[in-house]
Amino acid sequence: MSIRTKNTTSQRVSQVAPSGIRKFFDLIAGLEGVISLGVGEPDYASPWHIREAAIYSLEKGNTMYTSNSGMPELRRELSAYLKNTYNLEYDPETELLITVGVSEALDLATRAVIDPGDEVIMPDPHYVAYDSCVILAGGTPVFVPTAQESNFELNAADVAARVTDKTKAILIGYPANPTGAVMGRGKLAAIADVARRHRLLVISDEIYARLVYGVEHTCFATLPGMRERTVFLGGFSKAYAMTGWRVGYAASSREVIAAMTKIHQYTIMSAPTMSQVAALEALKSGDDSVNEMVADYNRRRLVMVAGLQSLGLSCYEPRGAFYAFPSIRSTGLTSEEFAEKLLVEEKVAVVPGSAFGSCGEGYVRCCYATSLAEIEEALARMKRFLERHR
Ligand code: PLP
Repeated sequence: MSIRTKNTTSQRVSQVAPSGIRKFFDLIAGLEGVISLGVGEPDYASPWHIREAAIYSLEKGNTMYTSNSGMPELRRELSAYLKNTYNLEYDPETELLITVGVSEALDLATRAVIDPGDEVIMPDPHYVAYDSCVILAGGTPVFVPTAQESNFELNAADVAARVTDKTKAILIGYPANPTGAVMGRGKLAAIADVARRHRLLVISDEIYARLVYGVEHTCFATLPGMRERTVFLGGFSKAYAMTGWRVGYAASSREVIAAMTKIHQYTIMSAPTMSQVAALEALKSGDDSVNEMVADYNRRRLVMVAGLQSLGLSCYEPRGAFYAFPSIRSTGLTSEEFAEKLLVEEKVAVVPGSAFGSCGEGYVRCCYATSLAEIEEALARMKRFLERHR
């Protein structure tokens, strides 16, 4: 029976489409023998010492809420980590907030800074939550096309060309999902110039900061004048293989963190306590595990990219995260047709590039955070598929 109310759900929610990734994965449910290059998460369990720290804390009965901002010890450790890694100083009392993953941090950041009608500039393609969070916060996403020919980098002049008197912020995420693009310091500095000239905030999602291959990650807040202008978001999900723990953080000015904390305290209260204990252990002693996993992702990355290229699919060499983003234009299929047919005919799951914005059309996202054996089998199946569809 339908609910007899006018306009049951809000216009804001109706403007947002369900995630193209999730929608696609409903198709997989019930199919046997699928190799998934789909979901963007590590195939590792969290390192044992991290799980053990959380188990021990549960055994001791550490099951209460923490402070809204997160465990003081975790915030202090995070502050030291950011100082050691980037030489950035954030006051653990007022400039850091522990969140339920970068997902919550993105929601809080957009809600804390956007007023109705504000515009937020972001690259296309982009992570699926970026435009949705902006719309749900009452803002308008403004897209800057990026292309394989320019390594999916965001061009500062293209950003500047889209600034209007309604522009409030630029929302970026490097290393990037879905392209694996990494932007060097010089090109990010040009974007920082645009932000400074037009007095914009930059929301910088750096969840893949640790997953780079042969290049250095530039933390946006380290660029001249950017510490106060940046809402720096980081997490534990990807680098430490901790997706299910749901823990991340935001670092920014006192003003922005206070605004984000206000929303967080009414909607979340505090990130899960055992997950914060696990995150503390990850920061204290997780480096070796991260380095081992990164070395492994790099081996898989090389096999995946060389494999896709040998199939005749043109593919930008990703420098970060754990995604390859090959062009499938040579097949004449749309991204969605390609992904659906590949799943039905050969039981390989990839994500249509169109799920990440209109510039993702003509591409598919292949996550290589899976075993080498599975990557090789997926490539063999794709070879058969391409022989039929060229
Ligand atoms: N940002 C990007 C670019 C991502 O790819 C993801 C997850 O796929 C997230 C944020 C959300 O991560 P978390 O698990 O920390 O919520």
